[in-house]
Amino acid sequence: MIARHGLSASRALGQNFLLDGQLLDRIARVPGPLAGATVYEVGPGPGGLTRALLATGAHVVAVERDDRCLPALAELDAAFPGRLRVIPGDALAIDEAAEAGAGAHIVANLPYNVGTALLVRWLTAPAWPPFWASLTLMFQKEVAERIVARAGGEAYGRLAVLAQWRARASLAFTVHRSAFVPPPKVMSAVVHLVPAAQPAGVDVATIEALTAAAFGQRRKMLRQSLKGMAGALTALDAVGIDPARRAETLSVDEFVRVARAIEAARW
Ligand code: SAM
Repeated sequence: MIARHGLSASRALGQNFLLDGQLLDRIARVPGPLAGATVYEVGPGPGGLTRALLATGAHVVAVERDDRCLPALAELDAAFPGRLRVIPGDALAIDEAAEAGAGAHIVANLPYNVGTALLVRWLTAPAWPPFWASLTLMFQKEVAERIVARAGGEAYGRLAVLAQWRARASLAFTVHRSAFVPPPKVMSAVVHLVPAAQPAGVDVATIEALTAAAFGQRRKMLRQSLKGMAGALTALDAVGIDPARRAETLSVDEFVRVARAIEAARW
């Protein structure tokens, strides 16, 4: 398909294609049964993962920035009539909730240059639960580890707190760099996220400001790193967290309790 459509991979568009049918089927199985469900895919490229998703019985809405891929995707549309809708354009610029609809599963071998921005956007929706039912996303392994990291480790930071506050996040499996054409420099991994119920009274902006301040100076004690954030030190005291601790020792639940105490003091 790639050769027939003259699709030489573009580095600028983060194009590393997956061609191994077994691996693509394995990714498509991560969200669970998809027959009759809607899947939103970012960056279908020549359509390897799209084909695997369509083969599960799903309807797929796919947004692709590289118009050279459209003829290959039109062939898939013909093979699975009425089940594939391709939106040419930039995934960062479209309203995917409106395009894919409530309850869509998001599945993507993401372009690395926009992957984290999209994940943060999907995790920071003001209303919760979000429009998506699950996220199954390929990342560089190092980014995947930052998403699922637990307190206490080097990889634990803002992304872990955000992801694990709003979702149940797990690493599905790692993927060797040689599975891609062309192979990227680093290993990859598929992460799976399912929205969690939200505790009342915590605003995403407060969590973001709190973790930005705390991890902005991650080697410092909280009494130092949080001193510029209004209400943060009082909140630590209110929930009984020692200000001599450092950000990476606080669990996700402790960050949420501090955020809630900051907000409570504002009223
Ligand atoms: N899904 C295919 C696969 O698994 O073989 C291709 C994956 S490749 C890593 C990333 C794809 O995202 C490319 O097809 C690229 O053209 C597309 N892409 C890059 N930036 C994009 C953007 N901002 N919006 C939509 N698609 C984008």
